[in-house]
Amino acid sequence: MAHDEAWQLRAIGLVRSDVKERKQMPPLGAPAAIEVYPEFADGLLRLEKHSHIWVLAWLHGAERDLLQVVPRGVRAEEPDALHGVFAVRSPVRPNPIGLTVTRIVRVHDTRIEVARLDFIDGTPVIDLKPYFVSRDLVFSAANRQIGRPASRENLRESLIEQALNFHGETCPDLALAVRVMEHYRWEVLGGSDPEGLRVIAPWERGCLVDALIGMTRVSPGRGTLSLLAGDRVRLELRDRAHEYLLLPLLVYDVAATLAAPDEALFDWREVTPG
Ligand SMILES: [Zn+2]
Repeated sequence: MAHDEAWQLRAIGLVRSDVKERKQMPPLGAPAAIEVYPEFADGLLRLEKHSHIWVLAWLHGAERDLLQVVPRGVRAEEPDALHGVFAVRSPVRPNPIGLTVTRIVRVHDTRIEVARLDFIDGTPVIDLKPYFVSRDLVFSAANRQIGRPASRENLRESLIEQALNFHGETCPDLALAVRVMEHYRWEVLGGSDPEGLRVIAPWERGCLVDALIGMTRVSPGRGTLSLLAGDRVRLELRDRAHEYLLLPLLVYDVAATLAAPDEALFDWREVTPG
C-alpha cells in the first residue's frame, strides 16, 4: 500500500450550532447538536449507555499544507511560539480531523444535543465514539501549558469545566475553589498553569477538595495533596507558598459565589514555605 494513498470519507451527519464562524467560537465551545443523516440512524442504537461521546469532524475550511503553527492563545513573538501540528489541536493539519469529547444532553431520533462543541455550524461529522472512562481517562496525564488564557473570564470558565469534570456537580464550594484557583493563577502566577504544585486543603470540605483535585490533578498518593483541619487552602510552588483563608459564604449559592468580589470570599497572603 503506497503511503500516499487516499481514502474516501463520508460524513455521517453535521453540526448545528449558533456559532457560524470560527473566530466567534468560545475557547471551550458552545452548546450544539449533531444531526445524524437518516441512513446512519441504526448506528445510534444504545448510545444512551454513555454520558459522553467523542465527536470526530472534518474541518473542511482548514489549511492542510502547514506542519507548524502558532496556536491560539500564544503570542507569536514568544521564543517557543511555534508548535508542530501534531503537538497541538489546531485545525491546520494534513488531515483536518477535529476531535472533541462532549456530554450528551439529549438524544431525539437522529438529533444528539450536546453540552459543548467547538465546531461551527455546518461542520461535517465523520464519526462518533463513546467516551470510555475505563480507558480514555488518564488521570495522571500531564501537559505543559500551550497558551495562556486570554482573560480572567476565560480562565474561570476553563477552571469550572475542569472542576466539574472531576466533581460531577456544580455547588457553592466548587465555585469557591474555582475562585481561589482563578485568583492564584491570574494574580499570583500571571496566567500560567503551575507545574509541580502542592495543595493543602480542608479535609472537612469534600466538594472544595474535589474541585481542587479536578483543577490541579494533585493526589495524596503522589504527595501533592494533604488534607488538614481549618478553613484554609495553601498552595506551594517550589520556594513560594500562598495561603487563602476562606471566609464563610454570605449566600450559599453558585452564581453569587462566582460573582462575588475576591475580598468577600477569602483573605490571601504569601507565607513562608515549608
Ligand atoms: Zn459538591
